[in-house]
Amino acid sequence: MAVLLQLDHLVKKFGGIVAINDFSTILHQGELCALIGPNGSGKTTIFNVITGIYTPTSGQVHFNNEDISGIKPDQITGRGIARTFQNIRLFKGLDVLGNVMLGMHIHIASNVAEAIIRTPRYNLEEKVMHTSGMELLDALGLADFAHAEPTSLPYGKQRKLEIARALATKPQLLLLDEPAAGMSPSDAEELMDFITSVMQKFDLTIFLIEHQMRVVMGICPRIIVIDHGEIIAEGTPEEIQNNNRVIEAYLGVETHA
Ligand code: ADP
Ligand code: MG
Repeated sequence: MAVLLQLDHLVKKFGGIVAINDFSTILHQGELCALIGPNGSGKTTIFNVITGIYTPTSGQVHFNNEDISGIKPDQITGRGIARTFQNIRLFKGLDVLGNVMLGMHIHIASNVAEAIIRTPRYNLEEKVMHTSGMELLDALGLADFAHAEPTSLPYGKQRKLEIARALATKPQLLLLDEPAAGMSPSDAEELMDFITSVMQKFDLTIFLIEHQMRVVMGICPRIIVIDHGEIIAEGTPEEIQNNNRVIEAYLGVETHA
């Protein structure tokens, strides 16, 4: 399989804090890879560097063999990388369909001014976005909620809507930042099944951050574990769960082999 994402020796410092320290990995097309680690270990910062929210202090991000380090977030979205956030970010003034259509705006020809004054070209594009937005919601089992206020949805559906909005940008790579945070084990399991089905349906590569190892073990063939911004283990769920460095990082105690 082709290399889709390549992270080379990424370092991100905030003043004296080294949030990511020499992080390198490769994601191949079609892969589902988990990134796990204790709170504050640098997981979200890695996503923020990939998506251009932060410029790396050093190191490079390559996507489809192009160096995208330091380019703007909307340009990176346009290249085919979409994400969700650890804290749900949905627009309250828009209904569910409106939130999804918002994700589609990066692929239309009309600019913001044309959208505001509603030129004929924008009206046509809006019709197309409306149709594809409904198709997307339908494919994800959210069509019944198209005209609901996002915050009125149960938490699990809000998480799915965030994924729907990310998919509206037509990504090749989807970055999910703790999508199951705060869910019961059975809701988390249902969401993980949803993620694998979405991955197949939309032919995606997924990089999935999770705090708890258990949540991703059933679905991710490869797991990367970081602590203090550094990779401390990488492998299959079986390889990871008995790794002493991983156990130490999570329990904050020393173990002896
Ligand atoms: P995780 O997602 O694994 O919980 P983060 O990537 O959010 O961890 O944070 C890693 C470290 O970087 C933490 O010590 C955090 O306080 C620090 N950090 C993250 N973003 C910033 C920022 N914008 N300014 C200063 N420190 C930050
Ligand atoms: Mg985080």
